[in-house]
Amino acid sequence: MALFALSRGVARSHPVNVSFEFFPPVSEKAEASLWDAVTRLERLAPAFVSVTYGASGSTRERTLRTVKRIMDNTSLNVAAHLTCVGASREEVDAVIGELNAAGVRRFVALRGDPEEGVGQKYQPRADGYANGAELVAGLKTFGDFDISVSAYPEKHPESPDFQTDLDMLKRKVDNGASRAITQFCFDNDVFEAYLERVRKAGIYIPIVPGILPIHHFGKVASFAGRCGASIPDWLHERFDGLDEDPETRQLVSSAVAAEQVADLVQRGITDFHFYTMNRAELPLAVCRLLGIHEDRGGIQEASGAGGNEPAAA
Ligand code: FAD
Repeated sequence: MALFALSRGVARSHPVNVSFEFFPPVSEKAEASLWDAVTRLERLAPAFVSVTYGASGSTRERTLRTVKRIMDNTSLNVAAHLTCVGASREEVDAVIGELNAAGVRRFVALRGDPEEGVGQKYQPRADGYANGAELVAGLKTFGDFDISVSAYPEKHPESPDFQTDLDMLKRKVDNGASRAITQFCFDNDVFEAYLERVRKAGIYIPIVPGILPIHHFGKVASFAGRCGASIPDWLHERFDGLDEDPETRQLVSSAVAAEQVADLVQRGITDFHFYTMNRAELPLAVCRLLGIHEDRGGIQEASGAGGNEPAAA
């Protein structure tokens, strides 16, 4: 019902902004498919696109090269992800200096997962930035960058409780973060309850939901388990029996993501960050279903201060 009504006029009656996340490719073939996705999604005039960065600097060269290529060949605003796990401050600062010299003014500042893998105990390096908040402060010493940080509607698995999680988010904001992008979360009631907690904690930056169109349900479910995101029963049911049926899976995926975004729009959310997995078709389909077309013209501006509010608040 919500999607049915909203898909006919959502982009006209609501200012919806989208951003797209890519990861640096590992081969020429992967590079070609990334580039296909970037150029097709550029036509939706996203607020920005971002390029991920491997923990411990494992993708340093590839991230830098991908960011530069997008900057040089498109009209897109590009944000470089940066992690600080497993590196000294000096090493991280060298990367910031390099990206700054290349003209990068937007960052997604992250701690990163422990080298042993998601969910393992994290041990900060004595000579490194210990967490996302310290990295934000470090970035701000280089320039007045636009800095996004992470947020966790179901709390980060390392956090003993929500308060610890919100304290970290508050520290990131106090140090200069202008927006938080969330871990994917398939339950909009959970997202909305989180947003209320965030506002009650005195945090007023935009909290942008991370939207994950599902390519492989099994992989998403397994990753979700490790990073503390839940998979509702109804989502299991929608993908049940579709493991060997990629066409139907794809149709269901775009409907699920479009339905989620349409419902969030109805709750007053205006900005959405898509985890694209370097593929354009699902984000394109979802945006189409929401009435966001390739003819929007110009880059949309991401929300400034104030940010998303539940419609009822
Ligand atoms: P922080 O914000 O520093 O901490 C996360 C939470 O852990 C805090 O809220 C805090 O409550 C808790 N915590 C931290 N330290 C402690 C402690 N010592 N004791 C108790 N609790 C603690 N990973 C990559 O490798 N590359 C990427 O490009 C990347 N991009 C991402 C983009 C988004 C939008 C998101 C949501 C995640 C991304 N990640 C990426 C994953 C991220 O690196 C992991 O989730 C990582 O485990 C935490 O990084 P963070 O910046 O959120 O950490």
